[in-house]
Amino acid sequence: MKTASAADVARLAVMLGDLRLPTIKAVWPSFAEKADTEGWPAARFLSALAEHELAERDRRRIERHLAEARLPPGKTLDTFDFEAVPSVSKAQVMAIAAGDAWLGTGANLLLFGPPGGGKSHLAAAIGLALIESGWKVLFTRTTDLVQKLQIARRDLTLEAALARLDRFDLLILDDLAYVTKDQAETSVLFELIGARYERRSILITANQPFGEWGKVIPDPAMTLAAVDRLVHHATIFEMNVESYRRRAALDRKRGPGRPPTRATTKTAP
Ligand code: ADP
Ligand code: MG
Repeated sequence: MKTASAADVARLAVMLGDLRLPTIKAVWPSFAEKADTEGWPAARFLSALAEHELAERDRRRIERHLAEARLPPGKTLDTFDFEAVPSVSKAQVMAIAAGDAWLGTGANLLLFGPPGGGKSHLAAAIGLALIESGWKVLFTRTTDLVQKLQIARRDLTLEAALARLDRFDLLILDDLAYVTKDQAETSVLFELIGARYERRSILITANQPFGEWGKVIPDPAMTLAAVDRLVHHATIFEMNVESYRRRAALDRKRGPGRPPTRATTKTAP
């Protein structure tokens, strides 16, 4: 059998580099050897290389999206105890975690409930699952984002800042209630909501349902308009459960042989 000359091999490496096919560049020698010994048809050899390049591209893209998303670590759907939150259907969450039915139309997801009930965990876990399916997600504490947007507005770059957020299919705003304090803070938030309306999705976690917002927000008309847009196409989960941390601590104190966590929901004073 004829083998490629060293010069051909060197030239091929340069060409594959120019073509931006780093995976093919790395794996072709071992594939070629296998193809030669096993007598693969040329088409099979070529498609095996192309497949590898594509798979590696997907993997790198997801890795990049993961780094950009700034998700809190370790919060996955696998480690989320759905039985602790009976009002949330696992099947529905799994459908949401696929993304197709809602992210394409810019629908929203709202998670309400008292502290410790698993809102941030569930939000981050959904975000992670969506990234793994190829979507782009940004997780941020609402206060952090609001602060950045306020600075942008001061510098007259709010529009550009909002446009930059457009590349994320889903924006996760964790802990919304804490920012609903003064006019300037809420107004950038409402501009963000308006800018994404029916185009790009938002996932919000909040301790207080929207009914309570009117009490803390200075401009009720503006609030009404923003809330209206948020809930227009939204799935809402009311996670009215006792703090998971607290229950876990209670379970530890009770020791082994006691009922599982979820059986203790009503025992706390
Ligand atoms: P919230 O955002 O509603 O205040 P968190 O999501 O921060 O609550 O939950 C508090 C802690 O308890 C986190 O460490 C979280 O991982 C854990 N936790 C809460 N709910 C669950 C659950 N249903 N299954 C597993 N862990 C949970
Ligand atoms: Mg939280």
